[in-house]
Amino acid sequence: MNDRPEEPRSPFSPPPKPHMSEPDWSPTTRAIVSGRPARQPDSPLSEPVVFASTYHSGGPIAYGRDGNTTWSALEEVIGALEGGAAVSFASGMAAVAAVFEQVSVGGVIVLPRDGYYGTRAFLGATVAGRWIVRLVDIWDTAATVAACQGAELLWIESPTNPKLDVADIPALCEAAHALGVRVAVDNTYMTPLGQRPLDLGADLVVHSVSKLLAGHADVVMGAAVAAHGSELCFGLRRQRSMAGAIPGPMEAFLALRGIRTLPLRFRQAQANAQELARRLAAHPSVERVRYPGLPADPWHDRARAQMDGFGTMIAFEVHGGPNAAEAAACSTRLIVHATSLGGIESSMERRAKWPGEDSPPSLLRLSVGCEDIEDLWADLDHALAIAAKVTAGLGTAVHLRTSPLDQKTPGRE
Ligand SMILES: *Cc1c(COP(=O)(O)O)cnc(C)c1O
Repeated sequence: MNDRPEEPRSPFSPPPKPHMSEPDWSPTTRAIVSGRPARQPDSPLSEPVVFASTYHSGGPIAYGRDGNTTWSALEEVIGALEGGAAVSFASGMAAVAAVFEQVSVGGVIVLPRDGYYGTRAFLGATVAGRWIVRLVDIWDTAATVAACQGAELLWIESPTNPKLDVADIPALCEAAHALGVRVAVDNTYMTPLGQRPLDLGADLVVHSVSKLLAGHADVVMGAAVAAHGSELCFGLRRQRSMAGAIPGPMEAFLALRGIRTLPLRFRQAQANAQELARRLAAHPSVERVRYPGLPADPWHDRARAQMDGFGTMIAFEVHGGPNAAEAAACSTRLIVHATSLGGIESSMERRAKWPGEDSPPSLLRLSVGCEDIEDLWADLDHALAIAAKVTAGLGTAVHLRTSPLDQKTPGRE
């Protein structure tokens, strides 16, 4: 959309740094070499953390809300991986909000019914008189296209969080563009190593950098990516400068350090997820496994056509309902019982325990990390055995750690 040779210059847009990566280097190499300082004697290999609000005048940055070279280094890597220009934000939600800010007041946004809860909640909370939201089943291409009539933005999440439905991204982008609708894809689940939405036709990509990109459960950050020099890219930078949802330089440094090992982590976690999904599907305590990498998954073929691998997230439902599922989530010893996802450590939770989340009550969302596969399986198998005891009415000895569900059901130990 509106490609321009030069990005409009303003105090909000420090000049992009020259790319040192060769266009034909693979994503694995780009994750390692992009965003480095020039190779000069005694220059460091990694971009230093620059803590500065105020700069000597005369340069393109001028003030700390408008630019920072540590952000720029991170943006260079994310941009190189996604095939566009990245703008980093204080959190994934700040990036999401900045994209919505590009929609005019009263504009229609088409949004997946199943998708990251925070995105839906944000639009639900701020929508009054500002934007009109149409909820769709994003896997249903015909219904989604029908909802795009007269809309300004189609928001895609694929695979969706937490149900792992897969949208037909190329078909939706083509149909949306024919109707003059912009398309944004939340690519947090797949990362640019598993899915490149701009190549599939999207106008914008959004990331919660807090998840797989940073990868170590120690950073909250976000990013949005659009075509180099596009009006959208300029709009996102301006939005960040004006609304001020800027990342901290230390967070940018940590996220950049995390991305260096993303190819290794993603490969290992994906291989672990594929094997765990296969074993879970054969486990007698498991009712249903959702993972696009399983040949029996309804979205297997669609996922194969547009993704490289099937991701690191699994959703599964256990027999025995929400109590059994909660017992399983609380009984793991290796897998961390926590919300969030995408860390090097595996984590799991029952999504429906959160108010406002309407996923199946016994659905467990498992974020697969890089631990040894046999240790992970032993842990899950043990947790499922405890869930089965709860189902059989023998679960009184189960100690459930505190969760919102527990607080609502007094008396359970
Ligand atoms: C976590 C998440 C977000 C929000 O990102 P934050 O960094 O927590 O603000 C957005 N989309 C998806 C898919 C997420 O998992």
